[in-house]
Amino acid sequence: MIAQLRALLRPDQILTETVDLIPYGFDGTAMLKEKANAVVFPETTEEVAAIVKLAHKEKTPIVTRGSGTGLSGGSIPVKNGIVLCLVKMNRILEIDTKNLTLTAEAGTITQAIDDAAAAEGLIYPPDPGSMKISTIGGNVANNSGGLRGLKYGVTRNYVMGMEVVLPNGDIAWLGNKCVKDVAGYSLKDLFIGSEGTLGIVTKVLLRLLPRPEARKTILATFNDIEDAAQTVSDIIAAKIIPCTLEFLDQTTIRCVEDFAKIGLPTEAKALLLMESDGPASAVEEEAQKMQAIAQSNRALSLRVAANSEEAVQLATARRSAFSALARIRPTTILEDVTVPRSKLAATVRFIESVAQKHGLKIANFGHMGDGNLHPTFLTNERDGEEIERVEKAMHEIFEYTIAAGGTITGEHGVGLAKKGHLPDQFADASYPLLQSIKRSLDPEQLLNPGKLFDL
Ligand SMILES: Cc1cc2nc3c(=O)[nH]c(=O)nc-3n(C[C@H](O)[C@H](O)[C@H](O)COP(=O)(O)OP(=O)(O)OC[C@H]3O[C@@H](n4cnc5c(N)ncnc54)[C@H](O)[C@@H]3O)c2cc1C
Repeated sequence: MIAQLRALLRPDQILTETVDLIPYGFDGTAMLKEKANAVVFPETTEEVAAIVKLAHKEKTPIVTRGSGTGLSGGSIPVKNGIVLCLVKMNRILEIDTKNLTLTAEAGTITQAIDDAAAAEGLIYPPDPGSMKISTIGGNVANNSGGLRGLKYGVTRNYVMGMEVVLPNGDIAWLGNKCVKDVAGYSLKDLFIGSEGTLGIVTKVLLRLLPRPEARKTILATFNDIEDAAQTVSDIIAAKIIPCTLEFLDQTTIRCVEDFAKIGLPTEAKALLLMESDGPASAVEEEAQKMQAIAQSNRALSLRVAANSEEAVQLATARRSAFSALARIRPTTILEDVTVPRSKLAATVRFIESVAQKHGLKIANFGHMGDGNLHPTFLTNERDGEEIERVEKAMHEIFEYTIAAGGTITGEHGVGLAKKGHLPDQFADASYPLLQSIKRSLDPEQLLNPGKLFDL
């Protein structure tokens, strides 16, 4: 197989030495790793298709990889398989300012897409915390969300089309630049969020929006986590949809401040980062209403960013939460539960009680405006007894979330990390339906086998 791959690619497009394979043996998920036989770096769709055709002939599994920032083990290699890494396919192919679309290769970094849009006075709204390194292909495969998801939605809402290499190596173009299109099944939607199990996305056609005229960023602190959660619920109930409503608990505030040194109030029990964008007058009104709601929920302090530099600094502080927390203990397990927003305060309280019950350190932060929380276990994978308690606690949090009408993953996907919990989430005929879609598109199980579920 490796000799045949060498015949298809230049020597610098293939890695086979153990020392070179190690960095491609894990992603952002704690405690998961595996070694592939080779990592390949195609530069064109035709090369991807040729590699997949070869793998199909040789019955060799392929795991597609973008930047490997995934937090559910989706791009962990399969033993004796190959990793197909798309980072060399990173060109922006077109910005169509008449139709407000952008076409890019799948390995393009998310930030580069928003930067290219900004140069035309446009915005690509989905902004995962990892956007400086994640690829757009990875975003599509995981249907990633971001800090602006509350108002603007997630990746799925911006994918108008895509080129995809199917498990037999055929190439298909799904979707188009039409705002309305109901011809046949929405095939592109099947591939969005399919975590590399149904096809390899090689190009994406994205919808852009006009860049908002103004933006206002407010930092509110609270003495009590529930007051922060209630503020979020009250803002939504007041029919206000800000572009960002992010939450940090005290552990996270302290870690971020220690890491980023931007003057966050470390004595506060909870912090909300609230952002409004749109026409200047509407932004002003929305920002004032949000401050009033925070005050009525006993906010300790309210800080309005004086300028765009300060606003970026505050948002960057939130984006650094994961890295900041990762410095505390040897292993950081970042979870991703989402509940209906009216259940936020109760869920935060439940997570705290679970941490206490099992004697664990669980920091909590997240896209609270979406109901998306990231309870983060600060633990040590070498301590088997502690990891057992972590697993029990995690299970209790998932059970609670499902019972509250929530989901075991709001944005990180199922991958390897959560496949054991998927049957609880899909407790009826929908679980075999998921499996039957995989069976019919990839009968040989060559694309990312063993992720999402086992067949
Ligand atoms: C610090 C940090 C912050 C994060 N914040 C967020 C956040 O706010 N919101 C969020 O949603 N996620 C977040 N994530 C998770 C992660 O960054 C996203 O899931 C991201 O979309 C993964 O992109 P990637 O290029 O790194 O993909 P990878 O990790 O390489 O792959 C992820 C999955 O996609 C598949 N895949 C990758 N490329 C393709 C392709 N071209 N075709 C088909 N399948 C493919 C892989 O097989 C795998 O299953 C964060 C991660 C980190 C480390």
